[in-house]
Amino acid sequence: MSDVLDVMVIGGGQAGLACSYFLRRAGLRFAILDGERSAGGAWLHAWDSLHLFSPAQWSSLPGWPMPASDEGYPNRDEVIDYLRRYEERYGLDVERPVEVDGVARSSDGFTLATSRGPRRARAVISATGTWRHPFRPKYPDQHLFARRQIHSAQYRIPADFAGQRVLVVGGGNSGAQIFAELSLVADATWVTATPPTFLPDDVDGRVLFERATERWRAAQEGRSIDVPTGGFGDIVMVPPVKDARERGVLNAVAPFARFTEHGVTWRDGSQSHVDAVIWCTGFRPALSHLVQLDLLQEDGRVATNGTRSVEEPMLWLVGYGDWTGSASATLIGVMRTARTTVAEIVEALA
Ligand code: FAD
Repeated sequence: MSDVLDVMVIGGGQAGLACSYFLRRAGLRFAILDGERSAGGAWLHAWDSLHLFSPAQWSSLPGWPMPASDEGYPNRDEVIDYLRRYEERYGLDVERPVEVDGVARSSDGFTLATSRGPRRARAVISATGTWRHPFRPKYPDQHLFARRQIHSAQYRIPADFAGQRVLVVGGGNSGAQIFAELSLVADATWVTATPPTFLPDDVDGRVLFERATERWRAAQEGRSIDVPTGGFGDIVMVPPVKDARERGVLNAVAPFARFTEHGVTWRDGSQSHVDAVIWCTGFRPALSHLVQLDLLQEDGRVATNGTRSVEEPMLWLVGYGDWTGSASATLIGVMRTARTTVAEIVEALA
């Protein structure tokens, strides 16, 4: 039975690494399987100019602080480099590229069907993030539109759209940041379902994390509190977004009514030609590997108590968003849920 590990971690992004740090400390036998070719998780696919919302010291995984960045808020490549060095520092031997296609129950726990053959473990941590499951809302006559459509998951640089008429759809941070930089080179229009919520200039990821912590603490103690607004979906005034505001272009319009072959019809009946649409409309958890366990709800999530599956008590889900722990989709926030997850696993395996 020596090939049956204590824990199989699916996903080697920030959430998988944070869990692995605590698994290693607990002395458990585990493996980390990751579908990418190199370290970095979703950050490998982020657009070129993406920076963290918070300074390095507020963006650290357990054990080792992220080195300070010359740019203040670390850029994409600095985050990737940090994750790579984090693996090296703690000897986390992430197996890559290994695709987990399915997870099934077995007599000793779970059997995982992977691109390198079956693997077995008594417990599973799913840390597969959301980047692989982009969400696009449906608009009438969308099939007619013959021009380019991409999701923010595929967006790289503004130059790809230079001189074009582009609709950027989505009122969160992705939409604001992509619109801001596109507005310098393209005829860009920002479409949001509701007016965007901008945070004050001095509120960054650090403040959001403090607020999330206050809410978490209050919930633990059964208190209801009234902390200032500001969720991770509200727009942080990072430099490119501030710059767009200063240029007077940071204005959103209400959604169009329908697509046409070459553009859109607005609610007042007017029409616009459009060369490209960039959907900055978020993500859903990437959980297709769990389909066989029959745990997925209509909203695409799994019912959890904290990070532990309610129906499958040897399965934990880490890092997907607030439903798996307050601020757990951030580098610093996932530390808390990773720690409690591993403590539960230690107890469950004992
Ligand atoms: P991921 O990083 O997606 O890692 C999951 C890994 O699992 C990937 O390597 C993937 O290939 C692998 N995988 C998936 N399915 C399988 C499978 N079936 N088999 C094998 N491997 C699999 N976070 C911050 O902390 N600070 C910020 O300032 C910040 N800013 C952001 C700004 C924007 C605009 C956006 C969109 C996100 C931001 N984030 C920020 C969030 C951050 O990018 C993600 O939440 C984070 O990458 C999630 O980490 P994860 O480990 O859960 O998932």
